[in-house]
Amino acid sequence: MRGCHEKRTPQEFTAWLALENPDWEPSYPDLQGDIRRAVVHALSAAQRGLCVYCGRRLHLHRPGRFHIEHFRPQSTYPALAVDLANLFLSCGPEAERAKSSETCGHAKADWFDTTSCIEPDYPDCTQRFRFLLTGEVTAAIAGDASAESMIDILNLNHRELRKDREDIFDRIDRENLNPSDFFDAATGMAEGYAHVACAYLDAVIP
Ligand SMILES: [Zn+2]
Repeated sequence: MRGCHEKRTPQEFTAWLALENPDWEPSYPDLQGDIRRAVVHALSAAQRGLCVYCGRRLHLHRPGRFHIEHFRPQSTYPALAVDLANLFLSCGPEAERAKSSETCGHAKADWFDTTSCIEPDYPDCTQRFRFLLTGEVTAAIAGDASAESMIDILNLNHRELRKDREDIFDRIDRENLNPSDFFDAATGMAEGYAHVACAYLDAVIP
Protein backbone atom coordinates (compact mmCIF):
# COMPACT_ATOMS: atom_id res chain seq x y z
CA MET A 1 0.00 0.00 0.00
CA ARG A 2 1.50 3.25 -1.09
CA GLY A 3 -0.45 5.95 0.80
CA CYS A 4 -0.53 9.71 0.57
CA HIS A 5 1.58 12.57 1.94
CA GLU A 6 -0.01 15.63 3.55
CA LYS A 7 -2.54 17.33 1.25
CA ARG A 8 -2.73 21.02 0.44
CA THR A 9 -6.31 22.25 0.04
CA PRO A 10 -6.77 24.18 -3.24
CA GLN A 11 -8.19 27.68 -2.79
CA GLU A 12 -10.81 27.03 -5.48
CA PHE A 13 -12.09 24.06 -3.53
CA THR A 14 -12.33 26.02 -0.26
CA ALA A 15 -14.21 28.78 -2.10
CA TRP A 16 -16.58 26.21 -3.65
CA LEU A 17 -17.36 24.64 -0.25
CA ALA A 18 -18.04 28.13 1.12
CA LEU A 19 -20.84 28.59 -1.45
CA GLU A 20 -23.05 26.34 0.67
CA ASN A 21 -26.44 27.94 1.35
CA PRO A 22 -29.97 26.84 2.33
CA ASP A 23 -30.73 25.89 -1.30
CA TRP A 24 -27.47 24.13 -2.17
CA GLU A 25 -24.89 22.06 -0.44
CA PRO A 26 -21.65 20.80 -1.99
CA SER A 27 -22.00 17.22 -3.24
CA TYR A 28 -19.70 14.86 -5.08
CA PRO A 29 -21.72 14.89 -8.35
CA ASP A 30 -21.37 18.70 -8.34
CA LEU A 31 -17.59 18.50 -8.04
CA GLN A 32 -16.85 19.20 -11.70
CA GLY A 33 -14.79 21.30 -14.10
CA ASP A 34 -12.06 23.55 -12.72
CA ILE A 35 -12.83 22.69 -9.09
CA ARG A 36 -12.50 18.98 -9.75
CA ARG A 37 -9.30 19.55 -11.72
CA ALA A 38 -7.84 21.54 -8.81
CA VAL A 39 -8.71 18.70 -6.41
CA VAL A 40 -7.21 16.08 -8.73
CA HIS A 41 -3.98 18.10 -9.00
CA ALA A 42 -3.78 18.55 -5.23
CA LEU A 43 -4.27 14.81 -4.68
CA SER A 44 -1.75 13.94 -7.37
CA ALA A 45 0.82 16.25 -5.75
CA ALA A 46 0.23 14.67 -2.33
CA GLN A 47 0.56 11.18 -3.82
CA ARG A 48 3.58 12.16 -5.94
CA GLY A 49 1.65 11.05 -9.01
CA LEU A 50 1.07 7.47 -7.86
CA CYS A 51 -2.02 5.37 -7.16
CA VAL A 52 -2.73 5.60 -3.43
CA TYR A 53 -3.01 1.82 -3.15
CA CYS A 54 -0.71 0.05 -5.60
CA GLY A 55 1.72 2.87 -6.44
CA ARG A 56 1.24 2.58 -10.20
CA ARG A 57 2.01 5.89 -11.94
CA LEU A 58 -1.11 7.93 -12.81
CA HIS A 59 -1.04 10.32 -15.73
CA LEU A 60 -3.44 13.24 -15.34
CA HIS A 61 -3.67 13.71 -19.11
CA ARG A 62 -5.30 10.26 -19.25
CA PRO A 63 -8.46 10.92 -17.25
CA GLY A 64 -9.97 7.54 -18.13
CA ARG A 65 -7.19 5.69 -16.29
CA PHE A 66 -7.78 6.90 -12.74
CA HIS A 67 -10.58 8.00 -10.46
CA ILE A 68 -11.18 9.96 -7.30
CA GLU A 69 -11.40 7.39 -4.56
CA HIS A 70 -13.46 7.76 -1.39
CA PHE A 71 -11.52 5.84 1.26
CA ARG A 72 -14.61 5.92 3.43
CA PRO A 73 -17.29 5.01 0.87
CA GLN A 74 -19.94 7.53 -0.05
CA SER A 75 -22.66 4.93 0.60
CA THR A 76 -21.83 4.70 4.31
CA TYR A 77 -20.14 8.06 4.88
CA PRO A 78 -22.14 10.55 2.76
CA ALA A 79 -20.96 13.42 4.99
CA LEU A 80 -17.37 12.76 3.81
CA ALA A 81 -18.18 12.69 0.08
CA VAL A 82 -16.47 16.04 -0.53
CA ASP A 83 -14.12 16.01 2.47
CA LEU A 84 -10.61 16.33 1.03
CA ALA A 85 -9.18 14.17 3.82
CA ASN A 86 -11.31 11.28 2.51
CA LEU A 87 -10.37 11.73 -1.16
CA PHE A 88 -7.48 10.05 -2.95
CA LEU A 89 -6.53 9.07 -6.48
CA SER A 90 -6.66 5.42 -7.44
CA CYS A 91 -5.90 3.63 -10.68
CA GLY A 92 -8.94 2.36 -12.58
CA PRO A 93 -11.45 4.47 -14.51
CA GLU A 94 -14.25 6.54 -12.98
CA ALA A 95 -16.88 4.00 -11.89
CA GLU A 96 -19.50 5.06 -14.39
CA ARG A 97 -17.09 4.76 -17.29
CA ALA A 98 -15.93 1.64 -19.08
CA LYS A 99 -15.02 -1.54 -17.30
CA SER A 100 -13.66 -1.39 -13.82
CA SER A 101 -10.26 -2.59 -12.72
CA GLU A 102 -9.48 -5.78 -10.76
CA THR A 103 -7.40 -4.01 -8.14
CA CYS A 104 -7.28 -0.97 -5.87
CA GLY A 105 -10.33 1.32 -5.61
CA HIS A 106 -12.59 -0.82 -7.83
CA ALA A 107 -11.62 -4.03 -6.03
CA LYS A 108 -12.23 -2.34 -2.67
CA ALA A 109 -15.56 -0.87 -3.86
CA ASP A 110 -17.77 -0.04 -0.86
CA TRP A 111 -15.74 -2.03 1.63
CA PHE A 112 -14.76 -0.27 4.80
CA ASP A 113 -14.03 -1.66 8.23
CA THR A 114 -12.97 0.72 10.97
CA THR A 115 -11.14 -2.01 12.88
CA SER A 116 -9.19 -3.63 10.06
CA CYS A 117 -8.51 -0.81 7.63
CA ILE A 118 -5.08 0.81 7.36
CA GLU A 119 -5.27 4.56 6.73
CA PRO A 120 -3.50 5.48 3.49
CA ASP A 121 -0.87 7.73 5.10
CA TYR A 122 2.64 7.53 3.69
CA PRO A 123 5.08 6.23 4.88
CA ASP A 124 3.28 4.65 7.84
CA CYS A 125 1.02 2.48 5.73
CA THR A 126 3.84 1.28 3.44
CA GLN A 127 5.78 0.18 6.50
CA ARG A 128 3.00 -2.27 7.39
CA PHE A 129 3.89 -4.29 4.27
CA ARG A 130 6.86 -6.27 3.02
CA PHE A 131 7.68 -6.44 -0.67
CA LEU A 132 9.34 -9.71 -1.62
CA LEU A 133 11.78 -10.10 -4.53
CA THR A 134 9.19 -12.33 -6.19
CA GLY A 135 6.93 -9.28 -6.44
CA GLU A 136 4.58 -10.60 -3.80
CA VAL A 137 3.46 -8.34 -0.95
CA THR A 138 2.85 -9.65 2.56
CA ALA A 139 2.24 -8.15 5.99
CA ALA A 140 5.51 -6.80 7.43
CA ILE A 141 4.68 -8.42 10.74
CA ALA A 142 3.32 -11.96 10.58
CA GLY A 143 -0.22 -12.08 11.88
CA ASP A 144 -0.98 -8.40 11.11
CA ALA A 145 -4.59 -9.13 10.18
CA SER A 146 -5.22 -5.56 8.99
CA ALA A 147 -2.32 -5.66 6.53
CA GLU A 148 -3.44 -9.08 5.27
CA SER A 149 -6.98 -7.83 4.92
CA MET A 150 -5.90 -4.74 2.91
CA ILE A 151 -3.84 -6.95 0.57
CA ASP A 152 -6.92 -9.09 -0.09
CA ILE A 153 -9.44 -6.26 -0.37
CA LEU A 154 -7.24 -4.21 -2.74
CA ASN A 155 -6.02 -7.35 -4.56
CA LEU A 156 -2.43 -6.15 -4.23
CA ASN A 157 -1.06 -9.55 -5.26
CA HIS A 158 -2.77 -9.36 -8.65
CA ARG A 159 -0.46 -10.86 -11.26
CA GLU A 160 0.16 -7.52 -13.02
CA LEU A 161 1.16 -5.79 -9.80
CA ARG A 162 3.42 -8.67 -8.78
CA LYS A 163 5.11 -8.58 -12.17
CA ASP A 164 5.59 -4.81 -12.01
CA ARG A 165 7.14 -4.99 -8.55
CA GLU A 166 9.40 -7.87 -9.55
CA ASP A 167 10.57 -5.78 -12.51
CA ILE A 168 11.42 -2.86 -10.21
CA PHE A 169 13.72 -5.08 -8.14
CA ASP A 170 15.35 -6.39 -11.30
CA ARG A 171 15.98 -2.82 -12.48
CA ILE A 172 17.55 -1.84 -9.17
CA ASP A 173 19.87 -4.83 -9.25
CA ARG A 174 20.81 -4.40 -12.91
CA GLU A 175 21.21 -0.64 -13.05
CA ASN A 176 22.41 0.09 -9.53
CA LEU A 177 19.61 2.61 -8.96
CA ASN A 178 19.26 4.59 -5.74
CA PRO A 179 16.25 6.37 -4.15
CA SER A 180 16.86 9.65 -6.01
CA ASP A 181 16.29 7.79 -9.30
CA PHE A 182 12.67 7.26 -8.25
CA PHE A 183 11.77 10.86 -7.46
CA ASP A 184 11.97 13.97 -9.64
CA ALA A 185 12.48 16.92 -7.31
CA ALA A 186 11.73 19.39 -10.12
CA THR A 187 8.21 18.10 -10.75
CA GLY A 188 7.54 16.56 -7.32
CA MET A 189 6.49 13.35 -9.08
CA ALA A 190 7.73 9.84 -8.34
CA GLU A 191 8.35 6.90 -10.66
CA GLY A 192 5.79 4.11 -10.59
CA TYR A 193 6.16 1.87 -7.52
CA ALA A 194 8.67 4.28 -5.95
CA HIS A 195 7.35 3.27 -2.52
CA VAL A 196 8.41 -0.32 -3.24
CA ALA A 197 11.85 0.71 -4.49
CA CYS A 198 12.35 3.06 -1.56
CA ALA A 199 11.27 0.40 0.96
CA TYR A 200 13.79 -1.97 -0.65
CA LEU A 201 16.50 0.72 -0.52
CA ASP A 202 15.58 1.66 3.06
CA ALA A 203 14.51 5.19 2.12
CA VAL A 204 11.25 7.13 1.90
CA ILE A 205 9.80 9.11 -1.00
CA PRO A 206 10.32 12.84 -0.19
ZN1 LIG B 1 -3.69 1.11 -8.04
